[in-house]
Amino acid sequence: MDFLRPGIWAEALAAKADRPEALPVQGGTDVMVELNFDTRRPAALLDLNRVAELAAWTAEPDGRLRVGAGVTYARLIAELGDRLPGLAQAARTVGSPQIRNRGTVGGNLGAASPAGDSHPPLLAGDAVVEVESAARGVRMIPAAEFYLGVKRSALEPDELIRAFWMSPASGPQYFSKVGTRNAMVIAVCSFAVALHPGERRVGTGIGSAAPTPRRAVAAEEFLAAELDWDARLDPAVLARFGELAAGAASPIDDVRGTADYRRHAIAVMARRTLTWAWNDLRSGRFERRAS
Ligand SMILES: Cc1cc2nc3c(=O)[nH]c(=O)nc-3n(C[C@H](O)[C@H](O)[C@H](O)COP(=O)(O)OP(=O)(O)OC[C@H]3O[C@@H](n4cnc5c(N)ncnc54)[C@H](O)[C@@H]3O)c2cc1C
Repeated sequence: MDFLRPGIWAEALAAKADRPEALPVQGGTDVMVELNFDTRRPAALLDLNRVAELAAWTAEPDGRLRVGAGVTYARLIAELGDRLPGLAQAARTVGSPQIRNRGTVGGNLGAASPAGDSHPPLLAGDAVVEVESAARGVRMIPAAEFYLGVKRSALEPDELIRAFWMSPASGPQYFSKVGTRNAMVIAVCSFAVALHPGERRVGTGIGSAAPTPRRAVAAEEFLAAELDWDARLDPAVLARFGELAAGAASPIDDVRGTADYRRHAIAVMARRTLTWAWNDLRSGRFERRAS
């Protein structure tokens, strides 16, 4: 197995163009497990750890954050937790401190597992994935179009993930995950909401309850039409939101849970996360935290 170690981004793109079969490795928390269990034996590994550009994040002129694919969960929590609270909350549930010190959102996107914890908040927060190839340059792919199937994404063999772009939260955001214990656990299912009060819109993301992470589009449209932003949360609206969120899932029975349980849990988490976010908004807690 060849081990390729580019020092800068341009070299990484050139290496991927030259060897499309080379498997990128960032934190290695997915890749090394696959190598150890011999479920994957790539002809070459493309180690991205020396590419300093990937480990940086910047606030861009349009107000969005551009977060390099190599920024670890631990750094995301510490450095961006105030601006990306939903994603940071999801990051806190990933693995253990060791995994959070190595693992990255870039790697979660690269793996494109339906159970990856970063996906629901990326969807709810309208994230855009920046990918690049030496031949065709940069492509900006909305998160909602990035996931194509179980562990399949829109990434082409000669492309690498450079960063994800996301606006700092304009309202409360929450993530909820059901697992068989509190840490070191793959989600049985998960759910994220992001309130966008300026646009009177609520973003959603469902995890581990369909072949891909996905938005609950009908539930979002229902809230856009029915939510009274100046009133208390109507229990009937909340209940219908839960039903529509569950309806957006298409889960399977597997070792972690049944399809019925997952649908039920999605409805519960949708109601809970929306209630938490709504309470923060109404009480002014979000503004106090953001200022
Ligand atoms: C003990 C343990 C617990 C875990 N717990 C969780 C959990 O709770 N929640 C969760 O979501 N995940 C969990 N994981 C899985 C893993 O930690 C995450 O998916 C993590 O985000 C992977 O990031 P990484 O940087 O280590 O990726 P890597 O292992 O380096 O790569 C993962 C995939 O992405 C590709 N890739 C990496 N970087 C790029 C790039 N720049 N461009 C293109 N492709 C790229 C790789 O080729 C590979 O296919 C756990 C893993 C372990 C071992």
